[in-house]
Amino acid sequence: MLVIHDPSALPQDGCTFVPTMGALHSGHLELISAANINELPVVVSVFVNPTQFAPDEDFDAYPRTLDADVELARQAGTDVVFAPTVEDVYAEAMDDIPLPMVATEPKLEDATRPTHFQGVCNVVARLFQFTKPTHAFFGEKDYQQLKVIEAMVSKEERFEGIAICAVPTARGEDGVALSSRNAYLSDEERAQAQAVVKALPLGCENEMRAALLDAGLDVDYAVIRDAETLLAPVEGRSRRALIAARAGTTRLIDNGALP
Ligand code: AMP
Repeated sequence: MLVIHDPSALPQDGCTFVPTMGALHSGHLELISAANINELPVVVSVFVNPTQFAPDEDFDAYPRTLDADVELARQAGTDVVFAPTVEDVYAEAMDDIPLPMVATEPKLEDATRPTHFQGVCNVVARLFQFTKPTHAFFGEKDYQQLKVIEAMVSKEERFEGIAICAVPTARGEDGVALSSRNAYLSDEERAQAQAVVKALPLGCENEMRAALLDAGLDVDYAVIRDAETLLAPVEGRSRRALIAARAGTTRLIDNGALP
């Protein structure tokens, strides 16, 4: 397995690609296993992208564990870990990627983190340009992000030929979705986080919110939406429950399909 820092040293004949911000856990490793679909190399990026963090967010404190990430990535079937510098990723000017509706209209992550998806789309576009993937793997854990990337890729000619592959959310034994930010949780907050998992299948927004408040969480949103547009649910179409809530200073997000 190779560790490459310089974008120009990446293989140029196609790959299957897993973008991450590192601090790899079993959720990331499931994406890497899923990316082993053919003979093309599996490229995993480890890049904490400053442009998707707001000034009051945890960019500086975000866990950075490259040596451990490299070893975990290798064991999970990675051919190349791509760990570029901020300067290299943003060396060339590129216009902002036009944001699809699902990034701006649902008032979910877009309401609490208004600059977040522009940062995500811009960095994913750059990473796609460097890595030239045929397939890119994203977790359902970040469900709005998955829908934003699917829409971005389907709208823009430059991304033609890239298949976006979704991987189900990996969870701990207590059901809490694995997240690099779980490292911040105290024991008490970890127990509170279980309320998020229990609230998802309730099927009623008021009950979801009440369950989260009962557990002492601060609720950003607790909603039931159309599974594709993330707007109000439509009779006869799939629905998704989505929650963002804070346990102490840690923001938890999770989601689940509803029958
Ligand atoms: P991150 O490093 O948090 O930016 O995540 C990198 C990728 O891993 C994203 O596509 C996430 O949705 C995905 N991911 C993170 N946590 C999980 C999880 N618990 N289960 C599945 N995918 C995940």
